[in-house]
Amino acid sequence: MPVPVYWGSPRQTQLTGAETLPAKLDLILERLHLRERVKDQRVAIKMHLGSDIGYSMVHPVFVRRVVEAVKEGGGQPFVTDLPHSVETAYMRGYTAETLGCPLYPSTGLDEKWFYTRQHSFMNLTEFEIGGAIREASFLVDLAHVKGHSSTAFGGALKNIGLGCVTGTTRSKMHDVFHFVPYVHKERIRDEAHRAAIRDSCPYGAISDDRSDPGGLHLHDYKCNNCMRCQAVADGALEIRPESFLAFMEAMNTSARLVLDTFEPGHAVFISLATHMTPLCDCYGYTTLPVIADAGIFGSDDPVAVDQAVIDMTNDFPILEQNLPAMMEIVTREGHPWQQIHGRFKDPFALLAHAERIGLGTRDYELIDVLPVAEPDFKQDTYVQAQPI
Ligand code: SF4
Repeated sequence: MPVPVYWGSPRQTQLTGAETLPAKLDLILERLHLRERVKDQRVAIKMHLGSDIGYSMVHPVFVRRVVEAVKEGGGQPFVTDLPHSVETAYMRGYTAETLGCPLYPSTGLDEKWFYTRQHSFMNLTEFEIGGAIREASFLVDLAHVKGHSSTAFGGALKNIGLGCVTGTTRSKMHDVFHFVPYVHKERIRDEAHRAAIRDSCPYGAISDDRSDPGGLHLHDYKCNNCMRCQAVADGALEIRPESFLAFMEAMNTSARLVLDTFEPGHAVFISLATHMTPLCDCYGYTTLPVIADAGIFGSDDPVAVDQAVIDMTNDFPILEQNLPAMMEIVTREGHPWQQIHGRFKDPFALLAHAERIGLGTRDYELIDVLPVAEPDFKQDTYVQAQPI
């Protein structure tokens, strides 16, 4: 049975604030019955507060509305994110005064406040989950949708899977890319061949392997799967979908472990798909949006909400005039995020895996909380516009 995903269109009929996204967020919170669910709950509002001079994260206007709703329902809200983002959040407009609640670093000031969950996934044997997350009894996942250099896009699952664990765990998660060998040193003929492979990448995605002299190292986040290196590698370096999927699966696995810390029904997922830049909010700067705004989505199911975003934007044209000049579109196949970041960074595969490990369902029903009505210009009183 499809789960509901409530959606607020970025478009409006009338020029009135009541039809804009903050007002539609209110309608989504009502449909999610947030107020009725948070009485006496300690509510973690997990966001990405960005860093340095980034400005495309979820605006405080939206956060404040969630905070007020939680308070009206008798909950105790706090906003949380990774320590370095919380430390400098005031520089980007996020303070207790603007948001209406405290801001806590999810893993403590020095990343020493965490709970260890034993779980094996490739090179990982345990996941360190932030103390602020673990000690909350209700979660509001308030995510900004954007592109991501390793996972093609970031939404509800990324905000949880990468944003609620320590830097140590996050670093190990990035290392899963290297778990299955992709460099075959025995096929590197000589130093000239090795240099030719390394230098064939125009993006600097291939470097010398510092821990294995004579080897090569691939930086997945720089690789857009253009396959130039494959023309010279002769099997010495492989660019394979499995390598890129591994990190996405690690992210889903982490999200699953984090969400397991909440009782059923004690989490909601809200994603704002506006100003979607090619890179995630970690980068500390904001570039132009590369696909049009898709609005605001809310559900009890993180997979459904991410799937709804991906489905809606699947045939959006890439705003190529807004792409940074060094970003090259090497394929016209797949989701726009695949076209931008690489065909093997497949958001549909990511969500299929999320469903397989029990994070939620891709079967959803999209419910428009305030449909856009086309103005009725066919009334009897209609007068033709008069060209000047
Ligand atoms: S596939 Fe393209 S981007 Fe990736 S490492 Fe090879 S040359 Fe670089």
